[in-house]
Amino acid sequence: MASSTRKRVVVLGAGLAGLAAAWELVQSGHEVVVLEAQTRPGGRVLTLREGFAPGLTAEAGAMFFTDRFRHLMRLVQHFEIPYESIFAPSLPYARGDALFHLQGRRLRVTADSDVDWPYNLTAEERELGPFGIVNKYLLSAFAGMDDPVASGALPDWLLEHDDKTLLEFAAERGASPGAQEMIRHGGRFGARSDTASAASTLTADFAPTRDTAPLAFVGGSDVLPRALAAELDQRIHYGAEAVRIEQDQESAQIVVRSGGRQDRVIADQVVCAIPFSVLRHIEVAPALSPAKQTVVNGLEYLSVTRSFLQMRQRFWEDEGVMGNAQTDLAIGEVQQQPLIRSQAQGDRAILEAHARWAGEPPALEGMAEEERLRYVLEEMDKVHPGVGRHYEGGQSKSWQTDRWARGAYSLYRPGQISNWLPEASRQEGRIHFAGEHTSIFNSTMEGAVESGVRAAREIEES
Ligand SMILES: Cc1cc2nc3c(=O)[nH]c(=O)nc-3n(C[C@H](O)[C@H](O)[C@H](O)COP(=O)(O)OP(=O)(O)OC[C@H]3O[C@@H](n4cnc5c(N)ncnc54)[C@H](O)[C@@H]3O)c2cc1C
Repeated sequence: MASSTRKRVVVLGAGLAGLAAAWELVQSGHEVVVLEAQTRPGGRVLTLREGFAPGLTAEAGAMFFTDRFRHLMRLVQHFEIPYESIFAPSLPYARGDALFHLQGRRLRVTADSDVDWPYNLTAEERELGPFGIVNKYLLSAFAGMDDPVASGALPDWLLEHDDKTLLEFAAERGASPGAQEMIRHGGRFGARSDTASAASTLTADFAPTRDTAPLAFVGGSDVLPRALAAELDQRIHYGAEAVRIEQDQESAQIVVRSGGRQDRVIADQVVCAIPFSVLRHIEVAPALSPAKQTVVNGLEYLSVTRSFLQMRQRFWEDEGVMGNAQTDLAIGEVQQQPLIRSQAQGDRAILEAHARWAGEPPALEGMAEEERLRYVLEEMDKVHPGVGRHYEGGQSKSWQTDRWARGAYSLYRPGQISNWLPEASRQEGRIHFAGEHTSIFNSTMEGAVESGVRAAREIEES
């Protein structure tokens, strides 16, 4: 339904948050201009298609979602975007033994194998293994409790755990120090588990994924931002960097650098959908409130560097193991791409090393591309012995050195979900804030879309 007063809105950033906000506003009849610094839409949804053999693609940013991502699914259904379950039993990815490399040892694990986990676990924890430990100490916490995904709000029981990290939460629920190590290194949550607020990780990482299979987009994650961008078409200005945001009683004005020129775009309202890690380097006049400024300047981002090694053969399938592996090596988690097995043409695939950290960077971060790939390959040999024989070449992506992201995704430390998140999303005059970092589902595509929808609603109601 068209709004009674048509507003002119400028959206900063054509990531999922900006695109979702723009799309909603256009549906409501507003005049929308999107300014995007890069020459493509999608931001941290980035499917790499160049530099690999024909048919191979790799996700450098977002990969998984679930059908519990309500706002995302609404768009997926509207644009009829095909997706598949990644670990469905019918797909070969579900076959093969699980691999771990922990405490200097390679562990090959079948569902019923008796594994000598290299941690000081209780007899029960030893029996449970990494998946059972996550179920017992983390997922079971949701039983009978209000679900943030269903309600779209952070329930009090989760907010109470904003004062601790996920590992501290697990310890409170009885996890031994060894089991905490297992959660830290034997699962996907890695560096977030001992740095981020438990309220944040439980809401954004665990709640949407429990009781449901992870999904991936057929054709690559960027199909969704591309579908939105295609519809917004000429409303998006690419290569248009916002360098200053101004507002007064009359209007908002954005100073834009584009093609060597500097222009001014005037609007009634602004949706600022760029990460705070980038916004803190942009002038805002008059200055944002001190409370907002504290969050814009102080919010941390997790660091992620992903190295993609092209393999001539999926040799691990012949060995009966998964390409994927959980490791405590500096190269991080090993993942096989493309995620959807049916999309891999021929025998080739990519083995990816997914390093995540907060604070001190691992050695690979300081390396030049070629040296980094060589190092990753050497370390990968500990997980997949003989991998070098199948290696054809590769590329890597460091999100913290990407000037339009300056980090992978927001990292709310203990206490900051209560104190900072409400401030992050609060409107300041004509400026409305969107982006994964402003949502309870921060660090996800759902958070980005949800925040865009919320910012559009704020404008509709203003
Ligand atoms: C390595 C990695 C793995 C991830 N895995 C998953 C996953 O499996 N599942 C999941 O749901 N989520 C995942 N995410 C998170 C998800 O990608 C993000 O939450 C989401 O894409 C963020 O969208 P956004 O619109 O908030 O920000 P962005 O995508 O960063 O969009 C911001 C846009 O603003 C633009 N911009 C920046 N500065 C300016 C400026 N000055 N002027 C104009 N434009 C500007 C940028 O170019 C960018 O396009 C992952 C992210 C990363 C990095």
